[in-house]
Amino acid sequence: MTIALAIHGGCGVMSPAGQPEAEWAGARAALAEALRAGWRVLSDGGRALDAVEAAVVVLEDSPHFNAGHGAALNAEGEHELDSSIMDGDGRRAGAVIGVRRVRNPVRAARAVLEGGKAVILAGPAADAFAGSGGLELVDPSFFTIERQRGNLAAMKARGRDGTVGAATEAEKHGTVGAVALDGRGHLAAATSTGGYTNKPAGRVGDSPIPGAGTYAEDGVCAVSGTGQGEAFIRHALAHDVGARIRYRGDALDAAAAGVIADLTPRGTGAGLIALDAAGRVALPFNTGGMYRGWVTPQGEGFVATHGEVFALGRLGA
Ligand code: ASP
Repeated sequence: MTIALAIHGGCGVMSPAGQPEAEWAGARAALAEALRAGWRVLSDGGRALDAVEAAVVVLEDSPHFNAGHGAALNAEGEHELDSSIMDGDGRRAGAVIGVRRVRNPVRAARAVLEGGKAVILAGPAADAFAGSGGLELVDPSFFTIERQRGNLAAMKARGRDGTVGAATEAEKHGTVGAVALDGRGHLAAATSTGGYTNKPAGRVGDSPIPGAGTYAEDGVCAVSGTGQGEAFIRHALAHDVGARIRYRGDALDAAAAGVIADLTPRGTGAGLIALDAAGRVALPFNTGGMYRGWVTPQGEGFVATHGEVFALGRLGA
């Protein structure tokens, strides 16, 4: 019985010199907490779907990542949050687009999946659906942190100076996600994001689109992506990882690295996490860094931001 888990907190993190060590340590602690939350579900015999939701909730609640509390602001200075979750068992999926009130968008995506009447709900109706299902609703200001106000001001200034192209990935991007394999052999994936800083109001990224930013298919792979969502949508990127495995017989690491390599010549910043049916993990990215963490089938946890990998030791049940 193999179980496995991987998470990400967005690609394009700052250079190691660009952020105080205490903030890196805080992000790593949140990644470790998310791994523990997901691993607890899996090692108790729970479902991959529950594990990815549990891990993403921790990351949404952390101010270190661009999802839930701490999400990026759009050009109007507002939050429009996107999330999706997919069950490899039957390729069931649920997603929400542009929500502003539900505290944990991934829980709303899960509720859409379980509701069975739609795959994607958008806007105020999605918030209302989440609220009517008993999920916690908050004032939109709950999601706003000072750092994201600063990022929005910086991106607007870059727009005025004509230096948007020089913005670091860290000023623009970030997203969180998780992939899991449970003891019954089921795979699942979930992704949640605020999009990117200064995005046009109403813009929809890849994160809430099954097959683009999130994909899970039992026996093949589970994938969650981060980076320039428009490219992920056009390339059907998460699904492409599965297609390379399923139709071409690629190994997971070749499939995952291959889809990212395809984006690199155009300068598209991107990363993803993926698991295959044997619990092998791949975490490729072409940006300066990617917040990430994984647990081996033996229960050893690891977190990383750039090249250096921090061992967490064996994660308890
Ligand atoms: N993929 C996300 C989006 O385009 C953003 C990111 O991961 O940085 O909305």
